[in-house]
Amino acid sequence: MNILLTGGAGYIGSHAAVALIEAGHGVVCFDNFANSKPDVAVQVEQIAGAAPVMVEGDIRDRAALDRVFADHAIDAVIHFAGLKAVGESVALPLDYYESNVWGTACLLQAMKQAGVRKLVFSSSATVYGAPQYLPLDEAHPRSATNPYGRTKLIVEHMLEDLAASDPDWRIAILRYFNPVGAHASGLIGEDPNGLPNNLMPFVTRVASGRLPQLSVFGDDYETADGTGVRDYIHVVDLAQGHLAALDRIGADERALSVWNLGTGNGHSVLDLVRTFEAVNGVAVPYKIAPRRPGDVASCYAGPELARAELGWEAQRDLAEMCSSAWAFEKLVAIRNG
Ligand code: NAD
Ligand code: UDP
Repeated sequence: MNILLTGGAGYIGSHAAVALIEAGHGVVCFDNFANSKPDVAVQVEQIAGAAPVMVEGDIRDRAALDRVFADHAIDAVIHFAGLKAVGESVALPLDYYESNVWGTACLLQAMKQAGVRKLVFSSSATVYGAPQYLPLDEAHPRSATNPYGRTKLIVEHMLEDLAASDPDWRIAILRYFNPVGAHASGLIGEDPNGLPNNLMPFVTRVASGRLPQLSVFGDDYETADGTGVRDYIHVVDLAQGHLAALDRIGADERALSVWNLGTGNGHSVLDLVRTFEAVNGVAVPYKIAPRRPGDVASCYAGPELARAELGWEAQRDLAEMCSSAWAFEKLVAIRNG
């Protein structure tokens, strides 16, 4: 198949590009490079043996989308493009609605016109809001606690309405838990601009000395060691989940399906820090800081539906997530001189 990856130059998109090329698919990445660089194609080629086609463009630009569908025989779309920082979404909500909601509507219109009706959408466990029970299964009630989460929820509703209007669509909504780590080569990974919001990129920068100290947000949660528990999933496992979803919707009767992509295991902040230190032989200095507003004590997936319906489950453990993230950080340090 020829797969269009919106946001394909980004963190998860680049790992998906590798997995798709390795599985024999053609890949076209469509990205405005707001949070990535076009030269990731070089690294993807080094790993996978073939380069994705890179098209610079914005999903809010309908004419640019129409050109991509006219120029390439696209069979399916994986839609990663969008903005993803919770704090920024509170400060700049209109940017989030414009990119994530309006941008997705533009993409769906372009797909409809081009007759492409297979879509995998990057959603998030954030659509479950504060957990009412754990593990979170796909039937857990949905709500949003910030503008970013609301944009994901709105797009989920948009896709439900679309699937109900036309049964020829084949749509997979994938709800990611906490993607971390990097490809085993260390060539691609997560290198956010500015101060990282997320735990793993913060930890790698403290370990390499780019940042002085980690703040652990709260040690008085009702968890085994008092720090927050999350379901960290290796980005390579996550990428494989997209292949499984594409295969499944190709053969599916349903117009719309929803799957959690998580491991089902919860790890605390201190579990992650200690594992990182042990497997990499480096120190991660930290201090206990106040809770971060909006954080919940624990959040982890029920991964059974993905296992049963996709035949997919995460293979890589926390140690591998930590060692690959560190290998990538060391390469970034060399690149940055
Ligand atoms: P990322 O920022 O690395 O990748 C997103 C890519 O989209 C970037 O390359 C960026 O340049 C591009 N982009 C942004 N706006 C665009 C636009 N208007 N037009 C074209 N390209 C645009 O982020 P990621 O971590 O790879 O996340 C991919 C998707 O997964 C996002 O939709 C995100 O919300 C979702 N998600 C991520 C996480 C996570 O923790 N990383 C968790 C749950 C869901
Ligand atoms: N966290 C932390 N220090 C940081 C960043 C995150 O202690 O600098 C904690 C956070 O409170 C949460 C966990 O690490 O318990 C995962 O946070 P992240 O932002 O990576 O993911 P999310 O909160 O979106 O699940």
